[in-house]
Amino acid sequence: RAKRDGKNRWYLFDPQEDRAAAAHAERMADVRRALASEGEFRLYLQPQVRLVDGAIEGAEALLRWQHPQRGLLAPAAFLPAIEHDDTMIALGDWVLDEAMRQLQRWHDAGQSGWTLSVNIAARQLRDPAFADRLAQRLARHPQVDPSRLELEIVESSALDGIAELERLLERCRALGVAVAIDDFGTGYSSLAYLKRLPASVVKIDQSFVRDMFDDPSDLRIIEGVVALGQAFGLRVVAEGVETLHHGELLLRLGAQSAQGYGIARPMPADQWADWAAAWQPPDSWMRWRTLVHS
Ligand code: C2E
Ligand code: MG
Ligand code: MG
Ligand code: MG
Repeated sequence: RAKRDGKNRWYLFDPQEDRAAAAHAERMADVRRALASEGEFRLYLQPQVRLVDGAIEGAEALLRWQHPQRGLLAPAAFLPAIEHDDTMIALGDWVLDEAMRQLQRWHDAGQSGWTLSVNIAARQLRDPAFADRLAQRLARHPQVDPSRLELEIVESSALDGIAELERLLERCRALGVAVAIDDFGTGYSSLAYLKRLPASVVKIDQSFVRDMFDDPSDLRIIEGVVALGQAFGLRVVAEGVETLHHGELLLRLGAQSAQGYGIARPMPADQWADWAAAWQPPDSWMRWRTLVHS
């Protein structure tokens, strides 16, 4: 890439960009190595609870990479390097397979009513075989109710056109799988999404929830999303619920479910059962419920 236009072109590429490209390629190769080596990627689980009584509804699956040199990595540290590459499809396949295994474990433990939400990258949704392979996966776990799997889609996934995405998600819905619109309100076409996509859940982005006590416009946005959810018959899940006060206010505003550090941080899957057994709806929510319903 020419760094400088005009009469004298000093060089055809920027050495800094060149280094960045090399680092990028290295990261991508490292992800492929890890996928082949088993046990480095993990799905952490973060609970989603019903606001009115604190009942556990399920979890969101959040990808982590236990890297041999770099330690435990969050998605921001490695997804950007692969998000436009086929490697994203391979890693997304691993995530979906692991999610099905988790749903099977819940089924075996007598908890077949819990829902597992899985983040799906735009690159995965552009794979023409996505729905077919999803169908095969579901067929390998006949005991798992497909409606317990929820695909979280972000608005930027429709950059190639909302019609294609709509068709794909209709196919997924026909398989019985649920669709959630993630980070709702942060994109450019949120309302078109609500209108066109066969979703049953909207997730209010944590940026609105975090400051809802301090910023009146965030509060109004949440009220608006809740009203839209009601109008479209969608469950409204609030993300980034960091304190019980957030939970109480969200309940009063009419949101159905909550997810956030105030309930639990994302945890390794093998800690889930103990967490779920110990979980008790906070007293303050119960008091609030009495007020709301009296
Ligand atoms: P997301 O889907 O919006 O997930 C919520 C993010 O917020 C998670 O970050 C979660 O750990 C964090 N979070 C949850 N509660 C709170 C809270 O109370 N306060 C704050 N400050 N943060 C909270 P995480 O795990 O780092 O994931 C970041 C993003 O990476 C996700 O955002 C999602 O877009 C993407 N991602 C995660 N797992 C996957 C995956 O398996 N596949 C794909 N394609 N993307 C994934
Ligand atoms: Mg998500
Ligand atoms: Mg989100
Ligand atoms: Mg996000």
